[in-house]
Amino acid sequence: MSDRSVLITGASSGIGATYADRMARRGHDLVLVARDKAKLEGLATRLKEQNRVGVDVLPADLTEAADRGKVEARLRDDRRIGIFINNAGTTVPGGFAGADLDALDRLVQLNVTAVARLAAAVAPRFMAEGAGAIVNMASVLALAPEIFPGVYPATKAFVLTLSQSLQGELGPRGVYVQAVLPGATRTAIWAHAGRDVDAIPGVMDVEELVDAALVGFDRREPVTIPPLPDASQWESFSGARLAMVPNFRQSHAAARYRT
Ligand code: NAP
Repeated sequence: MSDRSVLITGASSGIGATYADRMARRGHDLVLVARDKAKLEGLATRLKEQNRVGVDVLPADLTEAADRGKVEARLRDDRRIGIFINNAGTTVPGGFAGADLDALDRLVQLNVTAVARLAAAVAPRFMAEGAGAIVNMASVLALAPEIFPGVYPATKAFVLTLSQSLQGELGPRGVYVQAVLPGATRTAIWAHAGRDVDAIPGVMDVEELVDAALVGFDRREPVTIPPLPDASQWESFSGARLAMVPNFRQSHAAARYRT
């Protein structure tokens, strides 16, 4: 896959910008997506000079249907793109008390709708080619919604579940899908959450997070949780979930619910 281009959403800062740097160092041409055109162009100039790769900039607000449609079309039609880093996402301050419903809607548009539409735009081409990789940026909050307020953890649970659905359908057709679950990582997202990152314990630097996620990528892990020390904890959790699956097919309610 080393000769394939990489499209990265949320490439203007933080985790996405770091993926752009690492993928350029690996020799991939890039397509960079975010709203801030000036930042994308600055990053593109640096990466082209340092790595002698081709870098296209595709400015888009992924909460706007027309902009998002351009990115969907690029993923669908540009056969050079073989890796899609589905990373753009944000959060909003506060929980359900006094929630701003329009801000909540924009959050879902970015973290859920755009993530699903972009993955679904590229999936048929990758399946037809029998190759390709999709990296979806979830969060440990998908597994720990109690420790963060509001709707954000649920959007990340969606990303994890979407990844597992994609793995079920695309995996047998030769497409690799990775869900990455970062813990707290030092990026601008914490300012958007109205939080002081220096007051949060156990924050990982963004380079370390992305480099660890790429180790998981190279190993073709389905789910990569960079901060989790003991991988067997995830494997037990995952195993317990899968063990329930055959038991969901029942013509009658469980004995404890029978009246
Ligand atoms: P970040 O530094 O704030 O980066 C977010 C990126 O998304 C930026 O490039 C931003 O660019 C882009 N973006 C925001 N709104 C957009 C929109 N409407 N349309 C298009 N692009 C948009 O945050 P980050 O930490 O790197 O976040 C990247 C991903 O990691 C997110 O999905 C986040 O949920 C996830 N994550 C982060 C952490 C953490 O602690 N940092 C932990 C777990 C998961 P523009 O502003 O230029 O559009």
